[in-house]
Amino acid sequence: MIKVNSNYAKMPGNYLFAEVAKRVKQHEAKGPSQKILRLGIGDVTLPLAAACTNALHAATDEMATSSGFRGYAPDQGYDFLIEAIRQNEYAARGIDLDASEIFISDGAKSDTANIQELFSQDAIVSVPDPVYPVYVDSNALSGRAGSYDGERWTNLVYLPCTVDNDFLPDLPEQKVDLIYLCFPNNPTGAVMNREQLKGWVDYAKENNAIILYDAAYRAYITGDDIPRSIYEIEGAKDVAIEFCSFSKTAGFTGVRCSWTVVPKAVLGETETGQEISLNSMWSRRQSTKFNGTAYIVQRAAAAIYTEEGKKQVQDMVGYYMHNAAIIRQAMASLNIPFSGGTDSPYVWFRCPGGMDSWSFFDKLLSEANVVGTPGAGFGPSGEGYFRLTAFGSREVTEEATQRLFELLK
Ligand SMILES: *Cc1c(COP(=O)(O)O)cnc(C)c1O
Repeated sequence: MIKVNSNYAKMPGNYLFAEVAKRVKQHEAKGPSQKILRLGIGDVTLPLAAACTNALHAATDEMATSSGFRGYAPDQGYDFLIEAIRQNEYAARGIDLDASEIFISDGAKSDTANIQELFSQDAIVSVPDPVYPVYVDSNALSGRAGSYDGERWTNLVYLPCTVDNDFLPDLPEQKVDLIYLCFPNNPTGAVMNREQLKGWVDYAKENNAIILYDAAYRAYITGDDIPRSIYEIEGAKDVAIEFCSFSKTAGFTGVRCSWTVVPKAVLGETETGQEISLNSMWSRRQSTKFNGTAYIVQRAAAAIYTEEGKKQVQDMVGYYMHNAAIIRQAMASLNIPFSGGTDSPYVWFRCPGGMDSWSFFDKLLSEANVVGTPGAGFGPSGEGYFRLTAFGSREVTEEATQRLFELLK
């Protein structure tokens, strides 16, 4: 038989949301007395902003004309979108990026999964724990994570984020090469202020490490001292790659558009000690393995930077943040330790009575018909915690929160 990439066989089974779906289905089959309310999966629910759908329609009509038809998009993305991002997301905050440092893509998931290809097989990788599973699994599939011991990958450096450190990872005690950070965080909803993030940039500089910074939830930040971009931190342009997405910002989870910033100053070296720019490597990688994001989608993304687009998108974020406040208030009145919900659409809390995550999941599902996400699915330090999302409708959020309150009061 054909020899396969054995790393696939090492992967632990049952993806988190598959297991959640299985248990919900089993519960549904028993004919619950109430409607099942879902605040589990991290997907948006509001329809697209009118500015975006108008742009989609207009671009579609263009494609139907011989003068407006477009084939393959430019490798790094259309100038109109790169320029809109450069101006609105960076220049407006005093961050000066060159257009060639911004790469349009079809999702932060794919880019955060693919970026590890640029680094040597023996790079030491650190991840916050709990964590967005993509960082861990992409390194495991490429053989960099070692073997799975039932709880952890032997070669990864896990940085626990618990109630004891306010859900912010401590700097690694050992030297690491690649540092995944995600703020506002999924799943904990925690955020880092500028000073805290500066500590990581300094660490990276001192240790010749690279920070892979996932800012997918930047649109949810309200606090003035919370950086929207890691490049707000002095020196970050030398050591950090940033991933951003329109998925959570503008409800593009089903439309697919994102961008990644790889500054030209971020350097690495080859086996023979030759210096190489990660920007040129990523450019090579993308032009080899990716053929661009659809023109109509890039037009829709650019539309969020129009005056009406900005307002509509802000309203969407505001709607979800109102939901987050409802969940947060319930946690506070129940005296349950939690994080998130202020600069993030997630609320992360300690399962009451010292329950483990899956037991609490089952209790909430069977007794209140509410679906959340068990923290253990995000890493060993997520055990004993639970995630609720603010991405539901107002009605579902209110009702589910009320049921949770009644169950736990
Ligand atoms: C939702 C999410 C993303 C966005 O992924 P897309 O592929 O752009 O939809 C990226 N990172 C984290 C941590 C997320 O939760």
